[in-house]
Amino acid sequence: MDQPYPATTEDGYHTISFYSFFALDEIQVPRLRDKIQREWARDLKVVGRIYICEQGINAQLSIPTDKTRDLRLWLETHQVFSGRIPKFNWAIEHRRSFKALHVRVRPLVATGVPLSLETLSHEPEYLSPDAWESELHSAQEKGESPLLIDMRNNYEFRIGKFQGAVCPDVDTFREEMAAVRTMCKEREDKQAPIYMYCTGGIRCSIAGAILKSEGYENVKTLQGGVVAYGKHVRERPGGTASSLYRGKNFTFDKRLGEEVTTEVLAKCDQCGGPCDLFTNCANRSCNLLFIQCPKCAEKHHKTCGHETCIERSQMSHEELIKNRMPTVWSYHLRVRPDKVFGKDGIARPELLANKA
Ligand SMILES: [Zn+2]
Ligand SMILES: [Zn+2]
Repeated sequence: MDQPYPATTEDGYHTISFYSFFALDEIQVPRLRDKIQREWARDLKVVGRIYICEQGINAQLSIPTDKTRDLRLWLETHQVFSGRIPKFNWAIEHRRSFKALHVRVRPLVATGVPLSLETLSHEPEYLSPDAWESELHSAQEKGESPLLIDMRNNYEFRIGKFQGAVCPDVDTFREEMAAVRTMCKEREDKQAPIYMYCTGGIRCSIAGAILKSEGYENVKTLQGGVVAYGKHVRERPGGTASSLYRGKNFTFDKRLGEEVTTEVLAKCDQCGGPCDLFTNCANRSCNLLFIQCPKCAEKHHKTCGHETCIERSQMSHEELIKNRMPTVWSYHLRVRPDKVFGKDGIARPELLANKA
């Protein structure tokens, strides 16, 4: 059953994510991509980021509220989803969160290994936010501490996480799986439950299926991820007071996070003051993803503080195009402010040599 559609939003847009597994061949995939790119942009006015591959679809999007039912209908009438209509995951805060629609052929989750539909068929148990919370509560009351794994990357759990969660300090899904396997192997009781959660549920669907296919029977994942849990606690009568999740949920759109509870778990990367506002350096070729408080944003002109970035943040678009600059950081470093900031809160590529 679908939840009722949120009626009023700030600017007339819903923000939704969903995923679905299916089996297509290499000719069908680009066809579906082209069809979605064409029809969702033209008829449904969708903006967002959609990934399609032979195993399924992963979508994060904003859509005008009066088109949401049409999107549902579109999914229901397309054969490829037959029997497995994806469940919409509603954001907590609704507004237009993307500039345009990008539909790309790309693995749903960069797992680093090819996955078969057979592996994906070992579905983990999906717990609703309610069931998830009551299982974790009752374990707490019995004095148990079940294995609870945060399946997200390090920058994501800096600003929010479930109480008692293990958060492996990793950058990729492949590293995450290696860490999870080690934790699972070390436990004496192989049948004890493994609880796992991620942003919207897709990473856990895949990770849970891999673990189950490797013989771990009791794998439980949070259906709809932190997005669904956050919505659940924000909308219930008791509110967020008894939320097991604290802080913000990192999101992959221009908001870079939505509030679950008001607690601030992180610190500004530049001055160390309490802050949980992620930003990208205003110099596009730097693009460092880091936490910056409003004071530091003013002081460093919304940049990481490097003189080149400050200089480029003042340039016009034309000047920037004329003075093309090579990318400063690799992907891994772009999301690792702990490695690139000096004590003065200024990022410097030359610091890397010492910290590597
Ligand atoms: Zn600061
Ligand atoms: Zn920068």
